[in-house]
Amino acid sequence: MTAKSEAQNVDGKENKNGLELTRSIIKEALDKLGYPEDVYELLKDSLRIFTVRIPVRMDDGSMKYFKGYRAQHNDAVGPTKGGVRFHPNVSELEVNALAIWMSLKAGIVDLPYGGAKGGIICDPREMSFRELEALSRGYVRAVNQIIGPRQDILAPDTYTNSQIMAWMMDEYSYLNKEDNPGFITGKPNVLGGSLGRESATAKGVTICIEEAVKIRDFEIEGAKVVIQGFGNAGSYLAKYLHQGGAKIVGISDAYGALHDPEGLDIDYLLDRRDSFGTVTTLFKNTLTNNELLEVDCDILVPAAVQNQITEENAKKIKASIIVEAASSPTTMEATKILNDRGILLVPDILASSGGVVVTYFEWVQNNQGYYWSEKKVEDKLRDIMTNAFTTIYNTSQTRKVDMRLASHMVGVRKMAEASRYRGWV
Ligand code: GLU
Repeated sequence: MTAKSEAQNVDGKENKNGLELTRSIIKEALDKLGYPEDVYELLKDSLRIFTVRIPVRMDDGSMKYFKGYRAQHNDAVGPTKGGVRFHPNVSELEVNALAIWMSLKAGIVDLPYGGAKGGIICDPREMSFRELEALSRGYVRAVNQIIGPRQDILAPDTYTNSQIMAWMMDEYSYLNKEDNPGFITGKPNVLGGSLGRESATAKGVTICIEEAVKIRDFEIEGAKVVIQGFGNAGSYLAKYLHQGGAKIVGISDAYGALHDPEGLDIDYLLDRRDSFGTVTTLFKNTLTNNELLEVDCDILVPAAVQNQITEENAKKIKASIIVEAASSPTTMEATKILNDRGILLVPDILASSGGVVVTYFEWVQNNQGYYWSEKKVEDKLRDIMTNAFTTIYNTSQTRKVDMRLASHMVGVRKMAEASRYRGWV
């Protein structure tokens, strides 16, 4: 963690802004849809935020007490669902904002859920496997009374993975005296995880790209693509687009970027990338991540970290389509510049929703006790993603707003309606 992010966390500024930003997004979408102020008052905060302390005996024999949270934003549409993150910067403000964000995400792909988010203040990189297992099990014991397959469903998030989901599931089975895999998603396949989950985000991004090129009237085959980031999403995406005949002219990792106007050797790069997604260190003539964003291409996919496309470089980007696979890669100012320049910007909340769609499938399969083929998962993901894309694109056209605002409008509508029918507003 940098000194800056520590300082921002101490005074809570960054998290406060995150919550304020999420609230302003909800407000703008509700205003545009013509809902009264009461609806905003209901939706601006989570209905429930649970704070817990988890005692863990550390490997050196000492006791540590970890603080954790579970925020459940709104369960008018159905049970809440969302990830649990293990990170030193977790705070109540952050889980509150992210739970609201998950509600919007569920809404845009029309899942029968509201949003939730959990987290524990800890640094998993400094903890042993045994300590992490104790912490994961302790979290489930602490929040057991408010979670369940028909209440609130957990999932992986920053620094949590399928092993952590497995420990949590095991603890939940002990506590509730039955095997109930549907209370948590993102599990290993042998414990009820869904086929096709690992590549789901990249598949979702690919489907968005396929829809976007139709609008701009060109083909993926032969299109020049730049992908910033070669982690899980970026590397699978490079593979799918390469298979589809696109020319991947640029990729990057945390250390630099590779560029070849004739197209990079994607098979070789996928083979040589390490488990952290690093590959550029093997080459001499690399560009910086910033330089890569400005090279000549048709489609640009930021799939790394936030705030990459800014006021400074938005004017210089050559792509006619940008699909945000990372969270918040484009600043507000840059979004406006790109829209004014007529660039089609497919927002993160839509483009990155493939993951939660497939964990919804995991929950459906767990509930029915019948497991689908990878093809069935992919076909159903395609149906949901193309529907969401079309609804949002049409909303942006008819309401004359950009796709970002259109996606928030689509995301909030069902929850607002369900809350109204229930008599909550
Ligand atoms: N944590 C992921 C997200 O924020 C996945 C959530 C889920 O699968 O429920 O989208």
